[in-house]
Amino acid sequence: MSESEFALIDRYFAARARKRADVVLGIGDDCALLAVPSGRQLAVSIDVLVGGRHFLADADPEGIGHKALAVNLSDLAAMGAEPAWVTLGLTVPAVDADWLDGFCRGFFGLADRHNVALVGGDTTRGALALAVQVHGFVEPGRALRRDGARPGDRIFVTGTPGEAGLGLELLQHRLTAPPAAAAVLRRRLERPTARLTQGRDLIGVASAAIDVSDGLAQDLDHILQRSAVGARLEANRLPRSAALAATVTDADAQAVAILTGGDDYELCFTVPPQRLEALSARARSWDCACSEIGVIETEPGLCCVRADGSRLMLGHGGYDHFSA
Ligand code: ADP
Ligand code: MG
Repeated sequence: MSESEFALIDRYFAARARKRADVVLGIGDDCALLAVPSGRQLAVSIDVLVGGRHFLADADPEGIGHKALAVNLSDLAAMGAEPAWVTLGLTVPAVDADWLDGFCRGFFGLADRHNVALVGGDTTRGALALAVQVHGFVEPGRALRRDGARPGDRIFVTGTPGEAGLGLELLQHRLTAPPAAAAVLRRRLERPTARLTQGRDLIGVASAAIDVSDGLAQDLDHILQRSAVGARLEANRLPRSAALAATVTDADAQAVAILTGGDDYELCFTVPPQRLEALSARARSWDCACSEIGVIETEPGLCCVRADGSRLMLGHGGYDHFSA
């Protein structure tokens, strides 16, 4: 790597990395040296984001920096883990100070809010792409997993899923919305919130959990497959936000948007009946909605029913998962 690229690492990354007591040696050597607190397990997850595929190459760099970290923190949230460290693999076509400044504002803005330290990475020249790996802590045996759902468990989702997917349709000019709603939907797409507090509160309460990146139906299906169970969702219990309702008016179309829209990074989780009270006690302090949307069943497959008992069809493609 050239001298200017070392200067780039110092200026943009080493200088801004947070200090944490468990970082024995951070950016600048061949490896970082990190101390996992005794009695904790390490939870590790990586996401790769490719320009032109996961985000538009000309997208706002601050939004890219935020989202690259947020989607990883969301994976830790889904396991109930507490974030600690992050590494960053960055490929950029050129050293563009404005782009890097914007990226770092988004990335470190979020990292600082969650006390996450950047401890290393790799920087190369090439088509714009990012790999972010997060490391967090969980108590052994207590992490939220996908394989613990049992028949009779209730199914919940945080927040208002479906909004980010509509935000993407707006960007692609496949949809129009009133200006105020459009602003909310776009923000949900570009500035997702990882539900870290919620994930940690669900330890000892939820029997299974996943974060919603590919759409609520598809991600819930991962819980169903891993747990070898099925599920019945109630269309009229799906949380409809004001922005979603202002953009999509038909009730069935709203349900489809909520179940199939991706990029929300909400948590979908299951709770056994005897722990429902514990859930409501904890959810009272959350800064987002927590909606019961259905129940786990013995019979495999996922269905969604309207109030009159008729089945909601989600259309082509992904819906095969539903109709098993
Ligand atoms: P090496 O050649 O030994 O792999 P590099 O020259 O790639 O090391 O990187 C030098 C130091 O800078 C290392 O500590 C590495 O972790 C860190 N680093 C490189 N790129 C980044 C980045 N994008 N973010 C954070 N740290 C980085
Ligand atoms: Mg080396």
